[in-house]
Amino acid sequence: MEHTKLAIIGSGPAGYTAALYAARADLAPTLFAGQKSGGQLMWTTDIENFPGFPEGITGPDLMINMRKQAERFGTKILDKDVTAIDFSVRPFKLQTADTEMTADAVILSLGAQSIPVGVPGEQEFIGRGVSTCAVCDAAFYRGKRTYVIGGGDSAMEDTLALTKFADSVTVVHRRDQFKASKIMQERVLSNAKVKVIWNSSLKEIRGDEVVTEIVIEHDGTSETLPTDGVFIAIGHKPTSELVAQAVALDDHGYIVTRQSATKNGVTAANAALSEVGLVAFPSMTSVEGIFAAGDCVDIRYKQAITAAGQGCSAALDAERWLESQE
Ligand code: NDP
Repeated sequence: MEHTKLAIIGSGPAGYTAALYAARADLAPTLFAGQKSGGQLMWTTDIENFPGFPEGITGPDLMINMRKQAERFGTKILDKDVTAIDFSVRPFKLQTADTEMTADAVILSLGAQSIPVGVPGEQEFIGRGVSTCAVCDAAFYRGKRTYVIGGGDSAMEDTLALTKFADSVTVVHRRDQFKASKIMQERVLSNAKVKVIWNSSLKEIRGDEVVTEIVIEHDGTSETLPTDGVFIAIGHKPTSELVAQAVALDDHGYIVTRQSATKNGVTAANAALSEVGLVAFPSMTSVEGIFAAGDCVDIRYKQAITAAGQGCSAALDAERWLESQE
């Protein structure tokens, strides 16, 4: 069976950055990129908030560059999905449809996905008037009419981000009250640019080259509303199924690291971690030797640059931990 010192699962900014650092530390990592490599940024168009690209860069170009940079220093990249893992034995075991590999350490950079509403036009217009990240895309909507779908903190945050640029921001929520924290609700409801349409569901997103209108339903009646942009903010789902039985997850399914356990006060998981004993590796999960980085850990920021930073931290932690095992 093939063996690697360090396996990295996932090929978003966290995975590639971890691979770059690990490769430059001479760990010759193996990165499982998955059949669809590149993560969420492969679905975006322009990225203007990743430092180092003053004119912006497209999501796919950024990911291709990250991949090349990781490869240049000796990362072995396999475009395969890891289908099963066994972290109860050392070295750890990873399995794909046609290979098995063992690894001394593993970095999980499995990513997350925004939850879609599942209406016609939603996927078709991603990057052309449909967005899942207002922090990333609000600035493209200066002077425009926009809608936000959802009623949680993400929807409130997206709404507030949009009010800085858009002419109007209308929140469409399926119930008659928000789920978001009171303070976020108050900020949204007291903003003169914001309107709320309660008890209404998004039914369709329409357009030609770009989005031009949405259809919502209220009490069985459909209404068509002209718009330039629709922000879907009904939640994110971390991609943690593969490791759900192997490492501690929080209540939302995010992988708990020593650092996130302290920050978010996830007490049960914290207890599990302190039983393991070590404190020097903030990105280590509840299993010694297994690290995690990026959106599969991060319920809060969900940015390419924060994921990349966490990938760097995980690689440095893994390197030091491997040294401590020698
Ligand atoms: P949440 O699960 O908290 O909220 C999702 C919202 O979307 C709810 O209002 C829900 O409606 C609505 N919704 C869910 N499914 C659908 C659907 N199919 N159609 C229409 N509406 C739907 O997710 P968030 O991403 O907002 O937040 C996740 C976690 O992250 C929370 O713990 C939150 O506090 C945290 N967070 C914190 C932030 C901060 O502190 N700055 C920023 C962003 C998130 P309903 O109300 O009916 O359930």
